[in-house]
Amino acid sequence: MRPLAIFGGTFDPVHIGHLRAAWEASEALAAEVRLVPAKIPPHRPQPIASADERVAMLRAALAGQDRLQLDLRELDRAGPSYTFDTLKSLRAEIGGRRPLVLMIGADAFAGLSTWHRWRELFELAHVCVLTRPAQIPAMPDELAAVVASRSTEDIAELHAEPAGRVLDMVVSALGISATRIRALLAAGREPRWLVPQALLDDPVLLEPYRRGSRG
Ligand code: ATP
Repeated sequence: MRPLAIFGGTFDPVHIGHLRAAWEASEALAAEVRLVPAKIPPHRPQPIASADERVAMLRAALAGQDRLQLDLRELDRAGPSYTFDTLKSLRAEIGGRRPLVLMIGADAFAGLSTWHRWRELFELAHVCVLTRPAQIPAMPDELAAVVASRSTEDIAELHAEPAGRVLDMVVSALGISATRIRALLAAGREPRWLVPQALLDDPVLLEPYRRGSRG
C-alpha cells in the first residue's frame, strides 16, 4: 500500500533544504507526502512569522506541483503541536493497515526522546530520518536502543508494515537553515536561491523577517 508520509516543522520560512529533502524522500518511498506546519512547536522557540504567514509562504512554495501537499491539522488544534496527536489523528483517518511515515531531519531526530509520548510514535508510524549537513547531536542511549531494535535499510519493509521501522535516508546535502535565512533578511540581505523564487517574487511574504532590519 502506498505510504502516507508527513514532514513537520515550523517552516519559518520554508526553504529549499526542506523542499528538496521532502521531494527526494517522496520519490524514494513512493509515498504521498504532506508538509505539516506546527502552530505552537513544543520543543523550540516560537516562530517569528504567524501561522497564517507561514502557510502563505508554504502555499507559494508548493504551487505548480502536486507531489508535496499541505496538511493544516496542527493549526486547527489548540495548545502545543504534538506529533503524537498528529499521527494519531492521521492513523484514525487512514485505518490500521496503510503505512504511515514520519519524515524528520537527523538533527531533530536526535532530540526525539524529549518529545511527548515519544515511544508511542513508533507504534503509530515508521520514522524516516533524513540526512542533514549540520551538527547532529549524539542520540541519548534510550533513543539509540530503540533505533537499534527497529532499524532497517529496506524501503520495502516500510511498505509491508503499517508502522514501527526506522530508516535512514540520504538526501542531497543542502546546508540551508531557516535560522540563517532569517538572519540574512534581518540584515537587509536577500536569500536568493536559498528559498523558492515564489517567496522573493511576492513583496509581502518575507516581510515578517525584514521588519527587524528596519528598526
Ligand atoms: P530553524 O533554523 O529555524 O531551526 P530549520 O531550517 O531547521 O529551522 P524546521 O522547520 O525547524 O527548519 O525543520 C523542519 C524539519 O526539516 C526538521 O525535521 C529538520 O531537521 C528538517 N530540515 C530543515 N532543513 C533541512 C535541510 N537543509 N536538509 C534536511 N532536512 C532539513
